[in-house]
Amino acid sequence: MKAAVWHTAKDVQVEQRAEPGPPGPDEALVEVAYCGICGTDLHEYVDGPHFIPHDQAGAAAPAILGHEFCGTVLAVGGPGGRVKPGDRVAVHPAQYCQQCRYCQSGMVQLCNQASWLGLGGAWGGLAQRAVVKQYQCFLLPESVSFEQGALVEPAAVTRQGVSRGGVQPGDVVLVTGGGPIGQLAAMNARAAGAREVYLSEVVPVRRELAARNAEPNRVFDPARENVPELVRALTGGDGVDVAIEAAGNERALHDALAATRKDGTVVQIAIHGRPVSLHPALELTIPARRLIGSLGYTPRDYEHVIGLMAAGKLPAERLITSVIPLEDLIELGMDDLVRPDTRNVKILVKPSA
Ligand SMILES: [Zn+2]
Ligand SMILES: [Zn+2]
Repeated sequence: MKAAVWHTAKDVQVEQRAEPGPPGPDEALVEVAYCGICGTDLHEYVDGPHFIPHDQAGAAAPAILGHEFCGTVLAVGGPGGRVKPGDRVAVHPAQYCQQCRYCQSGMVQLCNQASWLGLGGAWGGLAQRAVVKQYQCFLLPESVSFEQGALVEPAAVTRQGVSRGGVQPGDVVLVTGGGPIGQLAAMNARAAGAREVYLSEVVPVRRELAARNAEPNRVFDPARENVPELVRALTGGDGVDVAIEAAGNERALHDALAATRKDGTVVQIAIHGRPVSLHPALELTIPARRLIGSLGYTPRDYEHVIGLMAAGKLPAERLITSVIPLEDLIELGMDDLVRPDTRNVKILVKPSA
């Protein structure tokens, strides 16, 4: 079968790989319908390995990429499992021990033994087929398309962030960053009942696309506008209840903190590439603000997001700007997405086009 294999930074090849063997008793063989290209994949491509397991010198084994995927179950290893041949499923890419305190509490993404399909795990979604554990499969109802199914993963990232932020009906929420995660965070905040959603983004084309897709109440340009001041003016001087930091730069984090009300919460979703300086007294202690991290998603986030999509409350498919065959992954996919002025938001790859 064809698969996109990461060899080292700037060396990703679409090549022939052995077919996965028959699924084991607790496994399913999935024919990939679509796999989205994620910012994480781009980081691995440009200057990885980051999440792909590697030694101290940065040496890593070749890995099939792709963790945002959905498809059709072709075969299962044993009867009576979670799925059967013909089922349409979105795949939760983590495999985990199911025993440790994090797995037991449902926060499986924090499992010390977790491995991730598409980031060093056995298989990946940027391939024609993959063998997955049946517990990784989440049924897509008829009303959820495969295009939407490929967006369950990034939507679940932001659902987890919104839920960790404790967004309540009637809340006012600021999202910093207007890329795919920022847009999906704004949609998930709205789906959680936020009364007003604001979004800040420095790149003009992203501001325009985020405004169209996520329909925030206000969009700010943090390079030219004082975001915290504008936000306070819009909230009777208080600030937002929750800010979701999805930009990953120092200004965005300070803006998120300063724009959040006393006793409010800032959720850090974006992966910052370098340290930032923070004034803990002024930014956290005196306003009694919470600053919390959010990583990945739980199985429950997958179920929640699929439910929202089925109910028409999460129009994530608006992010899709193109669909390409696997052969074009580098030229039309990754090389385009790393350009700062790209007009693409989410590119889906169709491995069996
Ligand atoms: Zn991703
Ligand atoms: Zn575990």
